[in-house]
Amino acid sequence: MKELVIISGKGGTGKTSLTAAFATLASRSGRAVFADCDVDAADLHLVFAPEVKERHEFVSGVVAEASKPLDAQCASLCRFDAIVPAGGNPGTYVIDGGSCEGCGVCARFCPTGSVTMVPRRCGERYVSETRFGSLSHAELDSRAENSGKLVTAVRTEAKRLAEEQEAQWIIVDGSPGTGCPVISSITGADAVLVVSEPTVSGLHDLERVGSLARHFRIPFYVCVNKADVNPDQAAATEAWCRRNEVPFLGRVPYDRAVTRAQIEGKSVVEWSGDDSEITRAIAGIWENICRLSQ
Ligand code: SF4
Repeated sequence: MKELVIISGKGGTGKTSLTAAFATLASRSGRAVFADCDVDAADLHLVFAPEVKERHEFVSGVVAEASKPLDAQCASLCRFDAIVPAGGNPGTYVIDGGSCEGCGVCARFCPTGSVTMVPRRCGERYVSETRFGSLSHAELDSRAENSGKLVTAVRTEAKRLAEEQEAQWIIVDGSPGTGCPVISSITGADAVLVVSEPTVSGLHDLERVGSLARHFRIPFYVCVNKADVNPDQAAATEAWCRRNEVPFLGRVPYDRAVTRAQIEGKSVVEWSGDDSEITRAIAGIWENICRLSQ
């Protein structure tokens, strides 16, 4: 079983569209399990149309909860301005759970002992069935943090499913950028595919995520999406890969079919068919991934 994580230096590079395209190809040749680890902006489900089989509340850290309205003395304890005036009841205060940092000071020093610390719900994660195979995915609540921990939970579930089903692949739509969620997305993976875009900033982003993958000693490959929009910059990315001995797996052309496929809830491979230029380009990249993973 191999775990491939698809990432990008920033959002909007076509990472999820390519993940869905690889899902189509991988599910044709064997069993694969999928994970959407872009939990801050999960959208793989828009193409996968999952049928949710299991729901699990995601709880992380603690939040203050008051059993009755608080007074100004209690409000003054909070360094994070999370104890705010209660609407319609002058002189009393309530806890704004979204702003609470869970430090516990109010619970410790509230003169009336009205505050307790309770587990904080941060979102939900799901196990679903899709036409490509099982999908582990999640939704972070608005203003909730700790998405790195949720990413770990989603990946752990995907691994469990893959072992249970003896899958050949775990294909992960990783988080963009270089922050905590992407570190949680890639640590321990067998390989990372960086989806780059043919711009100067795209190459700069590639250098950043590439050094992250190197730091964690994870083999990483590169492809350029919408390569024909700026062929010179795509060539510069390819040259960077050669200089740094990073496998460059191919160029994907710009194609309006990607957007049309998204609107129809399909992968671009399903929408465009096997004979299209874009499917041939993506299939070539997928063959390279399979070859390098042997
Ligand atoms: S736990 Fe800390 S951050 Fe939360 S309301 Fe109390 S004092 Fe403020």
